[in-house]
This record gives sequence, structure tokens and C-alpha cells, in this order.
Amino acid sequence: MMSRPINFCSGPAALPSAVLQRMHAELPDFADSGLSVMEHSHRDRRIVGLFEETESLLKSLLGLGADYRVLFLPGGATLQFAQVPMNLLGAGGCGAYLTTGAWSEKAIQECRRYGEAVEIASSQASQYTMIPEKSAWHIPDAASYVHLCTNETIHGVEWFGSLSDLELPVVADMSSHLLSREMPVHEFSLVYAGAQKNLGTAGVTVVLIRDDLEMTPQPSTPSLMQYANQMASDSMMNTPPVFPVWVLKLVLDWVLESGGVSAMEARNRRKAELLYTAIDQSALYQNPVASAVRSWMNVPFVLHDESREGVFLKQAEDQGLLNLKGHRSVGGMRASLYNAISEDDVQTLIDFMREFERTSA
Ligand code: PMP
Repeated sequence: MMSRPINFCSGPAALPSAVLQRMHAELPDFADSGLSVMEHSHRDRRIVGLFEETESLLKSLLGLGADYRVLFLPGGATLQFAQVPMNLLGAGGCGAYLTTGAWSEKAIQECRRYGEAVEIASSQASQYTMIPEKSAWHIPDAASYVHLCTNETIHGVEWFGSLSDLELPVVADMSSHLLSREMPVHEFSLVYAGAQKNLGTAGVTVVLIRDDLEMTPQPSTPSLMQYANQMASDSMMNTPPVFPVWVLKLVLDWVLESGGVSAMEARNRRKAELLYTAIDQSALYQNPVASAVRSWMNVPFVLHDESREGVFLKQAEDQGLLNLKGHRSVGGMRASLYNAISEDDVQTLIDFMREFERTSA
């Protein structure tokens, strides 16, 4: 494949070129059927097989056993902000939410539409540059579950702790770092992640559910949004998002061929170290996040001299370094280093940043 720009977008994000090549080669003829994957009935044995293989491959990459199901649902991670409380609040229960950035803020707000939500701690006062210690969380007795966003895509804050001592079901939004490193997924009763970052393309949200999670859907919960129904019909209650599930399968094949999640972790650790070290050593760039919770996937940074940001972005783009603008709510820059971004790509970015600092001083 010809040389392509490097896409540092936070999502929809870069796909591995090996995956793009397979999509190109295999799109017209899925599994020797003569039809593309989008043209088959979802009841076709090949598509049912695709869903089964994708579920089992994802579980094996994550080290999950028979006690977890994987659902492939529409609506993005945003719909999960509603679907979680609709299914898990129960009568008189409340959702216990940790607020660590913009996405966990949205999750608690959505919960309040369906019942009570209690904020157990927040790092808003630090402008979301840290994560409150577990000892400072105030979890109410009535809580049905604890919710956290384990990687805040906008603020670049990542959870590296353990939750094994919590007795309640723990629910996590892992949209922007699932499969980026080995994580104790078994500590979570429910995990959700939109696919358009580390897992593939927008249109499907992966939901992992442990079989001991108690479901108490509110009567008004649409049948399509009841996890139990989706589990019973293997994510095929209605026409499912087959194309993004196919892309997910190709991405999972690529992760496996590249050495699995442990290989992703080793590479992602080095990538993050390279970039944070370059930022910390420079006089021009700065990352405000407490070092213990700096995200490996999303690295926000500002220029000490804000007036140079426009030129920085323009020159980066001219050199094929795309989508480095920070989220509109926080400004500055952000480099997203998902699995498809190589160490060379990160080095190219660092070389550019150093050259920009040298020439614009
Ligand atoms: N949670 C996190 C952590 C995210 O990064 C995003 C999207 N950037 C969302 C939720 C919302 O995802 P979606 O657009 O798939 O609804």
C-alpha cells in the first residue's frame, strides 16, 4: 500500500494497513460465497459463524472464560450510558459513578434520566488531571453498581488500579483502550467499548457481560435494549451491524497475528514512554496529567505559547501528521496512539515536534 498520512485521530481512528488490505481483497466475496459480507442475510450460517468466531476470538484475546458473553450492539458507547442504568438500576437502587472526565460526566447525566445516580468522587477540581484514590470514594449502600470510564479519551487520564476488593458489580466504559494492554477484565461485571478506536469501525459497540450480573430492566426499557434479550438471541434480535463486526474480526485477527494483547501492551508502553518523555523534556510542550494516570492511548498536550498552535497544526498536516487538534472542549493538541499506530509513527511525530520547537524558538 502506498505511503499514507499518519492518523492520530481519537476516533474514528487509524486502522492497521494489513486490515485495510484484507478488507480491500475480501470485500466482494465473503467466505467464498460470491457475495460481500453486507449482502448476506444475518441468518446465513456464514454470518452466524462470523459472530461466533468474533466472540470467541475476542474472549480468548482478553483471557475471558465461559462466564462472559460478548454482545455486538448498535448505538455507540453513548447508548450504553442509558442501557446500563435501564438494565441494572433495579427498584430503589442507584448508580454509583466516578467522575474522571467528559465521558464519565455524560454517563452519570444519562443515568439520572432513569433513576438515581450518585457521584462517588470527582476529579473535576483538578480539571481532570488525576483520578481520585479509591479510599476517597463514597459508595452508597443502595448502589446497584459502580461505573467508571477507565480511559478518558479527551483528558488523557487512564485507570491502572485494581477493583478486586469492591463487592458490587463494576461497569466500565473502556471505549478508548480495550485491547491496548492486559487489563483485569474479570474484575468487571460489564464492559462496553465503541469499536471505532482500537477495535475497528463505528457502528458496533462491544459489550462484555459476566453471567452473574443481575439484570432488572425497567418495564419501559425497549426490548432491543434489554441485555438479556440480546444475549438470548446472540446479538441478532434484529438486523445487526454485520459490516463493523466483520471489520472487528479482521482487527482481532491482526492483533492475534501481531502477538496478542501482551505484544500490544509492550508496544503501547514504549510508544507512550517515548512521547511523554519528549513532551517532558521540551520547553515548548506540556502535558498536565499526573504521571501515574497518564493515558497510553490519548496524549493531550499544550504549547506554552498558545499563539503557535495554529502553525503547529498546519505544519503537521503538511507533513502528513493528521488530526492532532485537541477536543474542542479542552483545546490544545492530542495525539491518539491506538494499536494501529506504530513506534515509527510516534517517532515521526516526535521528530516533527522537536524540529518545530527548534525552528520556531
Ligand atoms: N466513551 C468514551 C470513552 C469515548 O471516547 C467516546 C467517543 N469518543 C464515547 C464514550 C462515545 O462513543 P460513541 O460516539 O460511540 O457513542
